[in-house]
Amino acid sequence: VQIYELEEHKIETWRELYLQETFKPLVHISPAASIFEAVFSLIKNKIHRLPVIDPVSGNALYILTHKRILKFLQLFVCEMPMPLFMTQTLEDLSVGTFTNIAFIHPDTPLITALSVFVHRRVSALPVVDCNGKVVDIYSKFDVINLAAEKTYNNLDVTVTQALRHRSQYFEGVMKCNKLETLETIVDRIVKAEVHRLVVVDEESRIVGIVSLSDILQALVLMPAGNSSYCYDCCCC
Ligand code: AMP
Repeated sequence: VQIYELEEHKIETWRELYLQETFKPLVHISPAASIFEAVFSLIKNKIHRLPVIDPVSGNALYILTHKRILKFLQLFVCEMPMPLFMTQTLEDLSVGTFTNIAFIHPDTPLITALSVFVHRRVSALPVVDCNGKVVDIYSKFDVINLAAEKTYNNLDVTVTQALRHRSQYFEGVMKCNKLETLETIVDRIVKAEVHRLVVVDEESRIVGIVSLSDILQALVLMPAGNSSYCYDCCCC
């Protein structure tokens, strides 16, 4: 299939041809479910959007995301006593991913970055220079721009070239360090309206990544006795 033909394809064709082996039923939730159940479903199914569907009419009512849930928790649950673990550091709590981080370099060809997305199933790739310093980030959201600008015919460009589309409002990669408290991290990620912070050392070298899924897991699931390890077991 020539890549330019993609524009002609119907969603139906995509599903039949390309998703054949990976077909999964739609994950959704009822409006009567709790926020806890929504967070559990988002994390267990490793999805970023959860449609809320009326069980009677079958109508999709709205879509829940990690960002919306965390914003809600920050706005409306702040009047409750703050749990003690909010004053602990990322390091103490082991919140985030600190091993086997998928990253790319400024001169990585776009096609390689796309293949890392497919194989590692991560939502963003920090861009790291030859000294290990984080200089940028390429996210799955940026990939949409290839379709918007119809630039998907040339996937040999570098990631740096592909990121040139980004508006002047891009404020740079949002970062944090392992010794910051969960409270500080939540404030920063909610204010910046981003999905992840890249964890760096004093020299701005990459150490890890903390995403909204890690934070919601720490805020909502872990206090209820749900660790990430238990999702895959048959009793949950
Ligand atoms: P996300 O899909 O961004 O919510 O992240 C899901 C999980 O993958 C979280 O535990 C993240 O810490 C982890 N993660 C996100 N990006 C990367 C990456 N580039 N390399 C390794 N792990 C990642």
